[in-house]
Amino acid sequence: MKYSPNSPILLSSSLHVDEARKAISELVKELLEESNAIADPADIETVPLDQAIDRILAEDLLSPIDVPAADNSAMDGYAFAGKCLDTSAPEITLQVIGTVFAGKPYDGKIQQGECLKIMTGAVMPTGCDTVIPQELTIAQDAVQIQFKQHQLKLGENRRLRGEDLQAGKPAISAGRLLRPSDLGLAASLGIATLQVRRKLKVAILSSGDELCSLGTSLTAGSIYDSNRYSLSGLLNRLNLEIIDCGIVRDDPASLKEAFIEASSKADVLISSGGVSVGEADFTKQIMQELGDVGFWKIAMRPGRPMAFGILKSSTGQSPVRKTLFFGLPGNPVAVMVTFYQFVRSALLQLNGASQTEVPLTQAISAAPIRKKSGRTEFQRAILERGTDGKPTVRLTGSQGAGILRSMSEANCFVILGHNQENIAAGDWVDIALFEGLL
Ligand code: AMP
Ligand code: MG
Repeated sequence: MKYSPNSPILLSSSLHVDEARKAISELVKELLEESNAIADPADIETVPLDQAIDRILAEDLLSPIDVPAADNSAMDGYAFAGKCLDTSAPEITLQVIGTVFAGKPYDGKIQQGECLKIMTGAVMPTGCDTVIPQELTIAQDAVQIQFKQHQLKLGENRRLRGEDLQAGKPAISAGRLLRPSDLGLAASLGIATLQVRRKLKVAILSSGDELCSLGTSLTAGSIYDSNRYSLSGLLNRLNLEIIDCGIVRDDPASLKEAFIEASSKADVLISSGGVSVGEADFTKQIMQELGDVGFWKIAMRPGRPMAFGILKSSTGQSPVRKTLFFGLPGNPVAVMVTFYQFVRSALLQLNGASQTEVPLTQAISAAPIRKKSGRTEFQRAILERGTDGKPTVRLTGSQGAGILRSMSEANCFVILGHNQENIAAGDWVDIALFEGLL
């Protein structure tokens, strides 16, 4: 069945956050399945490893080698043939016949009753399979060592060839949003370039007669356009190509022109403002002409009104181009919340990422929080360790949808589910951290 953002359920007056997310994901899936999809899976680039951070891996990365390439020592200690542990003697004494360093394999032979001093990472000499760590020896000098037999089993403190990765097996799967550890892993396999998805082109614009650009003086009743800056910050974190379409006035001709221009260049258009009840009729009319866009009233706070759908543009002979469109509410906090809840995962999905969600965790609420059942709320909060050592959150002051300071001071959202009611101090609540470590 063809999906439409204008289906009656999606236009209901209290669309559940989960239904909205599902509908967005369905539409993205449909777009990806179409042959003229906006983010063609064939759109792949080869980039050097040091430029691959935060890009999405386009192919399974197969390991060309075994890692480690040879059995090696996991400890600084003494390598020997472990079959000598098969004895009733409580203590074992071995003669030290040499030293093996990392990067310099030992090519001599070892006899029963002998051992080699070995450094961490050094290749296990032929005939050795066990390492007694330096600190477990009870006596040692340049010629012999002694240790208690029960402290060691055959094969211990040896890293086996291919233990991390086997040649020909996938080291990283396609769809991975590449992190520092992935780049390190690829480098450890000797891989210098990676195939990644091309960066999505995302256009942003702000709509509103009251908006002023930075560098101009505020006139009576006007405000500075902050949304484009929060949005470009959010998009930069996703390492996308941003097309800044500036401020557009609240008049049908300018809006229409701006939407046509943006959708002709971008895979995705994100606007803010102009979708609230007073202004929606006007925007709706334009959207009807340009594509299939629904005006949703989502049961959430902040961020109730939102437009979502596709804009179609045809350029001469070529087939109709489709641009995914998000019309976010104008309020500065609502912009960031709706981006986090709906846009971020859609962009990742559209670009082939396998993991599109931000992981949730939990913390104890330091104070009561008022909450009405029947809507999902995103409160801004600071996560800290409480005096009892447990993770604790407290809200950052006034939670109005226009109060950007509540976001700026926060380090996480407290997410209160659709059916949840008032929270008491000491209750556990779901949180989503703004920043990830890696
Ligand atoms: P709207 O959704 O257009 O009705 O806007 C809701 C509120 O957000 C109004 O107070 C607007 O002035 C404000 N607003 C809209 N767009 C922006 C923007 N780009 N930057 C800052 N505030 C905005
Ligand atoms: Mg407006």
